[in-house]
Amino acid sequence: MNVLIIGELNENLLSNNSIELVSKARDITKNVFLCTVGTHDAPDVAIEGIECRYIKTDTNTLSTHAVADTVKSFIDQNSIETVILPATYMGRDLAAFLSVDFDCPVVANAIDIKSIEPFIVTTAINGGKELFNTEIKSNIKIVVVRPKSFEYSETKVTSIDDSNLLKLNESHLDVDIENVNIEAKSGPQLEDSSIIVSAGRGLGEANNLSIIYELAEKLDAAVGATRAIVDAGWVPYSQQVGQTGKTVKPDVYIACGISGATQHQVGMKDSKYIIAINKDEDAPIFQIADYGIVGDVHQVIPKLNSLI
Ligand code: FAD
Repeated sequence: MNVLIIGELNENLLSNNSIELVSKARDITKNVFLCTVGTHDAPDVAIEGIECRYIKTDTNTLSTHAVADTVKSFIDQNSIETVILPATYMGRDLAAFLSVDFDCPVVANAIDIKSIEPFIVTTAINGGKELFNTEIKSNIKIVVVRPKSFEYSETKVTSIDDSNLLKLNESHLDVDIENVNIEAKSGPQLEDSSIIVSAGRGLGEANNLSIIYELAEKLDAAVGATRAIVDAGWVPYSQQVGQTGKTVKPDVYIACGISGATQHQVGMKDSKYIIAINKDEDAPIFQIADYGIVGDVHQVIPKLNSLI
């Protein structure tokens, strides 16, 4: 089976997400192709041992329409049967275009590819409470996979020359971007951090987050959040963990003042160790926690900060 992975360049590196997809594809078949999508200033990267191509867009005329057109030609020319994309803005957008182009379904939000004959994909539904298997029978199988669904295996990334550049169809460069707003980032990032300290509504108000940031700094951890405090405007959406936020899998996840709603759990339950601090001993978060502290965050966290 010929499998095409759509990869992304993230701050000039091949994203971990793309490497996870390649690792899984290599388990499924020997015939793995990688096509990365990045801006003109991004490096031309490849993964050793697999067929790699790349597509360059620019910030003035970034257009999924044009990218999809180019990917479609590549699929036709290389008899690709399965396309696996990351569940990012680009991946979802591109999957929709390909679905229309090939008149075939997309399984989005997948967390596993269980088998290839028959081709069965697993998705989590009801906030991750139930797993659902879907058999895809179309000629082209399009799967959009949530980050951290597959193991990341160390992969040698090399550079490739411009003979592997797939040109965009100019007539489809029909979007002009007037402004690009890049959110300022500082400290460890949720996607890569081995420790995450996350805050929920139990903190009471935005000003109280200072104890969370202090704890995170001491542990060299990233700061995550529940949707409740993102919606309340305490922290930006980029810090949200959960069904409609990021999926994380750190070694240690410290949930502070978080009830543990299924929509939050689905984004963090696969962390290696979960530590929960909540004043309600019946809070659902304790059902998945490895260690729990029943107590008031305003007392427990400052104490932890001074001990550390
Ligand atoms: P709460 O549920 O209000 O919990 C606060 C907790 O703090 C309580 O358990 C309480 O006992 C504890 N507490 C209060 N005071 C203290 C104190 N002083 N010390 C210690 N503990 C204290 N949520 C997400 O997080 N991520 C998502 O991606 C997401 N997506 C969603 C998608 C959909 C379609 C829907 C419907 C909901 C989604 N939600 C998501 C929302 C989710 O259902 C919960 O509402 C949310 O996770 C609750 O956030 P919370 O735990 O901060 O708040």
